[in-house]
Amino acid sequence: MRLLPERTTIIDPRSQVMFEGVNLATADDATMRKIRGDRIAMIFQEPMTSLNPVFTVGWQIEEALKYHKPELDRAGRRARAVEMLRLVEIPEPERRRGEYPHQLSGGMRQRVMIAIALCCEPDILIADEPTTALDVTIQAQILALMDGLKKRLGTAIILITHNLGVVAQVCDRVMVMYAGRVIETGTVFDIFHRPRHPYTRALLDSIPKKGRKEHGGGGKRLPTIEGIVPSLFDLPKGCRFQDRCKFRQDRCVAEEPALEAVGMSALRPDIGGSPAKASDSPVQVRCHFPLPSVPPTTP
Ligand code: SF4
Repeated sequence: MRLLPERTTIIDPRSQVMFEGVNLATADDATMRKIRGDRIAMIFQEPMTSLNPVFTVGWQIEEALKYHKPELDRAGRRARAVEMLRLVEIPEPERRRGEYPHQLSGGMRQRVMIAIALCCEPDILIADEPTTALDVTIQAQILALMDGLKKRLGTAIILITHNLGVVAQVCDRVMVMYAGRVIETGTVFDIFHRPRHPYTRALLDSIPKKGRKEHGGGGKRLPTIEGIVPSLFDLPKGCRFQDRCKFRQDRCVAEEPALEAVGMSALRPDIGGSPAKASDSPVQVRCHFPLPSVPPTTP
């Protein structure tokens, strides 16, 4: 999104972030201003610090419209702001439009963030931990809301989260990252039912599962991943996961693995047939010795 000032950012000149033929990593500021907030929008992690405390929430929604929808006059922007607040299910939107962030609850502020992000009907919505600061009831409401908006407006959502439960609930494709690198990509079905990277497998094993003796039930200790993530200032040669991987071999220390296709993805049974139907995209893994693809098991 290129939100940070250039003096605090390092972008590798070879980077490519392609959006409709434009490389966002190298596009000029004028191009980025047109795309940002209009074609690609973002919901930030902490709504209290992302909203401006000295402006009303209506003003903050209308600010994006003023820049990206010049055809709307003041009354049009105001009507659109109220419409967006209603869309994100904020009660009494006409009155709430004139309120400041501190007058709203955490869940309502997060809804305002979503309203701001969606008011220009973006093609892509980047949601960075959109439910982290919320209790589970509000979290479920926000996720249902985003899912509904995705279906109604046709917006593609990129969800950034540590919460694997949320991933399983709302995502189609998953990209697992470790120490700044993508280490595995696949559908939700691939990642949760037959993970091929040792880190993905270890992550899933460390989730408590009701009734599974081998996963922490029956008095056994819950498995954890020993060690810590390496500092990005002092990365090891070879695989970045090597110090914590129980499958490590000499090659892992000597040579960094590339992200490579290891097979075709599968769609989960509820959307693609039973038990799993092949999709047209590959499963990719960054590991010299990917785990075998075991048959899908019942979650
Ligand atoms: S490359 Fe080696 S150390 Fe890295 S995840 Fe694969 S098996 Fe483990």
